[in-house]
Amino acid sequence: MRILVQKFGGTSVANLECMKKVRGKVLAGLEKGYKMVVVLSARSGETNRLLALADEWSASPDPAECDSLVSTGEQASIALFTMLLKDSGVKARSLLGFQIPIITDSDFGKARILSIDSAGLMKLLEEYDVLVVAGFQGCTEDRRITTLGRGGSDTSAVAVAAALGSVECEIYTDVDGVYTTDPNLCSTARKMDRVSYDEMLEMASMGAKVLHIRSVEFAKKYKVPVHVRSTFTDNPGTLVTQEDSTMEAVLVSGIAYDKDQARVTMHGLPDQPGIAASIFGPLSEQGVLVDMIVQNSSLDGNTADITFTVSRKELKKALEICEDIRKNIGATEVRHDAGVAKVSAIGVGMRNHSGVAARAFAALQAEGINILMISTSEIKITILIQEKYVELAVRILHDTFGLDWDIGM
Ligand code: ASP
Ligand code: MG
Repeated sequence: MRILVQKFGGTSVANLECMKKVRGKVLAGLEKGYKMVVVLSARSGETNRLLALADEWSASPDPAECDSLVSTGEQASIALFTMLLKDSGVKARSLLGFQIPIITDSDFGKARILSIDSAGLMKLLEEYDVLVVAGFQGCTEDRRITTLGRGGSDTSAVAVAAALGSVECEIYTDVDGVYTTDPNLCSTARKMDRVSYDEMLEMASMGAKVLHIRSVEFAKKYKVPVHVRSTFTDNPGTLVTQEDSTMEAVLVSGIAYDKDQARVTMHGLPDQPGIAASIFGPLSEQGVLVDMIVQNSSLDGNTADITFTVSRKELKKALEICEDIRKNIGATEVRHDAGVAKVSAIGVGMRNHSGVAARAFAALQAEGINILMISTSEIKITILIQEKYVELAVRILHDTFGLDWDIGM
């Protein structure tokens, strides 16, 4: 049995007209001889509407009931779409997470998938040509409904694809693929034909919103090729897949950025063992996610400065915690800057080529952009700059690493 999993996002199932386009994609899969599993999101705006309702009804909505409520968005989508398929004479049925079941842990609102009854799905596929599955949801062992976190339908789809051995997982959306950078910021951004799992993970974590990050982790773990493409065209999209030698030949494959950054510096810390732990311990205990970290020692070797970045939403909390720590360990001062942003150049080619950082720094220098912090990983260089330079920096780096459209000049 050849199985193809297709997932359609909220804008693809927004109304009857859009759903007819979705039906076209599903029928095309059937014509190619596949048994189809179609994972749907809630219609666009629906999840937000339901979450707002919960907040209206309750001062602190019960997490389990909240999941029970928001999961109904997907329930409506799958029922409506299955009706449409049946009207076209297709043997189809809808399935909610708990009917399959897709078993998750009990972390309501951001549950993780533990198992999927693939044998049950295979059996149903003998009877039906299309199974229409609700994305974003699962249930605990004791059958409480859970959801997987915002954007989680991608993860449902990839997990089902992995469980069923689907040839690939097609993720249909309202853009035609993954771009070398944000096309709204840089008009020369190009759609990528292929991108590796690791590059996609770095891009997603930098706020490239195309795919739910956990879906990429799943795809990488189970080696499921993910094809991101548009519901509204027939163009090939971007294949997110395993790395190969042609990908390594490209130095930088994308430029990502994140404006949701704030910088905190603790000055004049005693330079002795345990100081970093005494700062980052309390921050993590109170749920503050820290991103870049840099420590510098003073010339006399007695004191150190530690600078780190957090999301702007968490700046206030981070400052309060740091102020307490400052008093306890006797640092001189805590400073902050909420007007910073990070820009990253990402590419698996960096594993085998040197000089990428130097080229990036030189390009920024030529535009008079001051670098505030730098961090690197095997396939990424991240630079913290003033937020007002983000657009310029993205364009400069995009051009420097040859990612611009070939405009024939
Ligand atoms: N409907 C959910 C959300 O809006 C899940 C998804 O669309 O992927 O976040
Ligand atoms: Mg999405």
